[in-house]
Amino acid sequence: MIERQTIETDILIIGGGTAGCMAAVEAKERFPEYKVTILEKAHIDRSGCLAGGMNAINAYLNKGETPESFVRYVRSDSCGLIREDLVKSMSELFEYCVKKVEKWGLPILSDENGEYVPRGRWNIKINGESLKPILSKAARSAGAKVYNWITVTNLLTEGDRVTGAVGFSLRNGKFYVVHAKAVLIATGGAAGLYRPNNAGDASHKTWYSPYNTGAGYAMGIRAGAEMTSYEMRYVALRTKDAIAPTGTIALGAGAPQVNSKGERFMVSRYADIGGDGAPTPYRAHGPIQEIKEGRGPVYLDTRGISPEKVADLKKAYLDMYPSQVLYWLANDIDPGAEPVEVQTTEPYIVGGHCQAGYWVDVDRRTTLKGLYAAGDVAGGAPFKFVSGCWAEGVLAARSMGEDLKTLDRVIVSDAQIDAEVRHAFRPFENHGTIRHGIKSAELESRLQKIMEQYAGGASTYYEMNEQMLAIARKKLAILPQEAESLVAEDLHQLMKAHEVIDRIDVAQVLVEHMAYRKETRWPTYHTRTDYPERDDVNWLKFVNSVRDRRSGKIELTTRPYEQIVPGDRYKA
Ligand SMILES: Cc1cc2nc3c(=O)[nH]c(=O)nc-3n(C[C@H](O)[C@H](O)[C@H](O)COP(=O)(O)OP(=O)(O)OC[C@H]3O[C@@H](n4cnc5c(N)ncnc54)[C@H](O)[C@@H]3O)c2cc1C
Repeated sequence: MIERQTIETDILIIGGGTAGCMAAVEAKERFPEYKVTILEKAHIDRSGCLAGGMNAINAYLNKGETPESFVRYVRSDSCGLIREDLVKSMSELFEYCVKKVEKWGLPILSDENGEYVPRGRWNIKINGESLKPILSKAARSAGAKVYNWITVTNLLTEGDRVTGAVGFSLRNGKFYVVHAKAVLIATGGAAGLYRPNNAGDASHKTWYSPYNTGAGYAMGIRAGAEMTSYEMRYVALRTKDAIAPTGTIALGAGAPQVNSKGERFMVSRYADIGGDGAPTPYRAHGPIQEIKEGRGPVYLDTRGISPEKVADLKKAYLDMYPSQVLYWLANDIDPGAEPVEVQTTEPYIVGGHCQAGYWVDVDRRTTLKGLYAAGDVAGGAPFKFVSGCWAEGVLAARSMGEDLKTLDRVIVSDAQIDAEVRHAFRPFENHGTIRHGIKSAELESRLQKIMEQYAGGASTYYEMNEQMLAIARKKLAILPQEAESLVAEDLHQLMKAHEVIDRIDVAQVLVEHMAYRKETRWPTYHTRTDYPERDDVNWLKFVNSVRDRRSGKIELTTRPYEQIVPGDRYKA
C-alpha cells in the first residue's frame, strides 16, 4: 500500500530552479497572504542548470541598450522569427532581477565607477559558483515551503483547468498529492532525447542538465496544453570532451573559429550573414559543414594569447566549469600554445536558448486555466538565459497572484488520483508481476537510437527529410506501449522510468513539429534537406501543437508572427 501525503497550497511551483526560485520570492513578496509550495526533483540548493555555477549573466541591457534593441538582436539571431512581445517583456525586468540577486549576495564584477563589467553587448560577468544556493536561500527566506526529492509525474486537471500535481518522493517513497489554485511549471528543458556525445559511464556528461528530462513539457502535452516551436532545437558548440562553454574563450580571449587548415571559415564562407558574428544557429552549422566536407576538426584559435589571458580563462572556468581546466591539465594542453578543439552537442529542447515550449501569453499564462510557465520550459522567447528565466518567474508570479483573486480551489475525483498512483508506481508493480520487463536504460537507448538516426542526430549532421521523419514517427509510435512494461526495482529506477516516459512523449511531439515546418530557417537546429531554404512567404509563423487527451493524436496548427519592433528582421 503506497502511503499518500496531501498538501493544500495557493501557488504550486514545479521545479525549484532558476525561474522557480525567483517566482517563489516574487509571489511571497507581492502576495504574502498566499501559500507558496515548491516541489523539486533534486535538492533545491544544487539543482538544475545552475547547479555547478555560472560566470556570466548572458542577457542584460548594457549601457546604451534598450528593450527594443534587445528584441532586434534576438530577432536577427533567431533568423527573423520570435515572439517579440515575450522577449520585450522579459528584457524590461532584467535589471529588476539582477539587482535583486546582487542584494542577496551574488558577486557581480563592477568597475571603479560601480558599473557592471560588460562582456559584449548583453553579458555581465559574475562570480557565480554559489548562484544556486543564493537563490534557494532567498526562496526559503521569503516563506516558500520547499519539498526536495519529489519527482512530479503529472498535473491534476478538471477539464481544461489545472488543479495541482502529483509525484513521488525519491527518499521515502510516499505519493504526494498537491492541490493548488495556480500552478507554475518551471522544470527546465529536455536533455537525453538524442544519443549523447559521450558513451558509457560518461553518457550523462551532457551540455544541458541531464536531470532536466522534459518532465514539464511532457506533463503539459498529456494535459492538452498548446506547445510551440519544438522544431527549433538547440545544438550547442562546446569544447571537445569537456563540453565547456566556448563563449568564455571566444569572447574572453577573442579567439576565432578555424578549421584544420587554419582558415577562418566563418569569415570566408558566412561573411554575408555576419562572419564570426553570424546568428547562433550558423555558429554551430558552420563547423558542422567544415567537418562534413573534410576540413575538420574545428578549433577556437587561442594560439598566441598571453599567459595572463590563459590564467584568466582558467580562473573563469574554475568558477563554473572546473572540468575544462582539469582536462587541459590531464592532457598536457596549454591553450596559449595550441588551439582548443570544439564540437557540437546532441540536440536539446530548450526554450531559454531557442524557443521550444508552452505557448504562453505575455503574462506567462499557458492555454490551460490555472497553469503558467516560466524559464526554459516556456516557448517563444529565445535568449532568456539566467536573467530571462528570472524575469519570466517574476511575470508568472505576478499574474498568478492577480488571478488567484478569481481562481477557486477545484476538487479532483478520487478516481483521478487513484489512476495517478497507478501511473506513478506501475514500473514497481511490473517488477513483481511481468516476466520480461524493460529497464529504463534499454528503452532510453531505443529512443535515442531512433532520434539519432531518423530525426536529425549528430551522426547525420543534424539533417532530416520527410522520409526519415516518417520512419522516426513509425518507430516512436511503438514506444509508449513498450513503456507500459518498464520495470523498476527501487525508487531511483522508478525516477529513471518516468524520465524515459516523459522523453518519449516529448520526442513524438518534436518529430511532428520538425515534419510540419517545410523550410530550413535555423540550419542545424532544423536542417530539412528536402526544404533547404528559409521560406518567409509560407513559414513566417509559429508551428504549434496540442495532443488530444482522449485520442492521443497530435494536432498541428500555426499561429501568426507579429512584428512589434520596427526594422529589418535580419539585422540587429
Ligand atoms: C551548462 C549550462 C551553462 C549555462 N551557462 C549560462 C551562463 O553562463 N549564463 C547565463 O545567463 N545562462 C547560462 N545558461 C542558461 C541558464 O542556466 C538556463 O537557461 C536557466 O538556468 C534555466 O532555468 P530554468 O528555471 O528554466 O531551469 P533550471 O534552473 O534547470 O530548473 C529546473 C528545475 O526543475 C527541476 N525538475 C526537473 N524535472 C522535475 C520534475 N519531474 N519534478 C520536480 N522538479 C523537476 C530540476 O531539478 C531543476 O531544479 C547555461 C545553461 C547550461 C545548461
